[in-house]
Amino acid sequence: MKQPNLIAIDGPAASGKSTVAEILANELNYMFFDTGVMYRAVTLIALNQISDLDMEHEVVAIADSIEIDVRKPSKGDGRKYDVWVNGKDITWEIRQPAVDANVSKVSAYAGVRTAMTSQQRRIGMKSNVVMVGRDIGTVVLPEADLKVYLDASAEERAKRRHAEIISRGDEADYEKILESMIRRDKIDSTRAVAPLKPADDAVIIHSDHLCVAEVVHKIKDLFAT
Ligand code: C5P
Repeated sequence: MKQPNLIAIDGPAASGKSTVAEILANELNYMFFDTGVMYRAVTLIALNQISDLDMEHEVVAIADSIEIDVRKPSKGDGRKYDVWVNGKDITWEIRQPAVDANVSKVSAYAGVRTAMTSQQRRIGMKSNVVMVGRDIGTVVLPEADLKVYLDASAEERAKRRHAEIISRGDEADYEKILESMIRRDKIDSTRAVAPLKPADDAVIIHSDHLCVAEVVHKIKDLFAT
């Protein structure tokens, strides 16, 4: 395969998608785009503005009107990028447990997905890109030249997420992370619209026993020949 212009990387929560994609994008001088931040931003604003996330119509109205700005990192505090909404830096706010607990409900709404998918396609059409999410290979960029589905056991993924939070100096409970992750993956993979699943033509990589560099290497091997 020649070097792909559009690379889609999908997979469950904390499978290492963003870390791998960021390295790959830097090495290839491509844009890196993590679509999860968009669903997280809608969820954060919905939690702040409406009393009940069951009010689908109100949540979709937020998704339709929100302007999410993902920029180069402005601080060296471990962030890969800045996420701004309505003039406010929400980079870390979108990582809080309340967002983790509610994002799958919000992202299952068809209207929310329509709004986010069209923005993501526009970004994907602009330049060479490594785009990360749950439905990039299946729905957002089905024409992607290379599709990777990155998987790992729930226990390994919870261990990684736990270590990541601790390394930021925050407190974390492994069991709670594991439980929340399993719940989120179940909702993401069983929803009616754009469920989490590998595209038929995706290359599946299990990363339980692989380090980040090995996963990057495996992906680059796919287009080295
Ligand atoms: O990747 P991340 O954990 O930040 O994604 C947060 C949530 O956003 C996922 O659990 C999923 O519900 C939603 N999401 C999605 N489609 C994407 C990316 C994320 O539904 N392409």
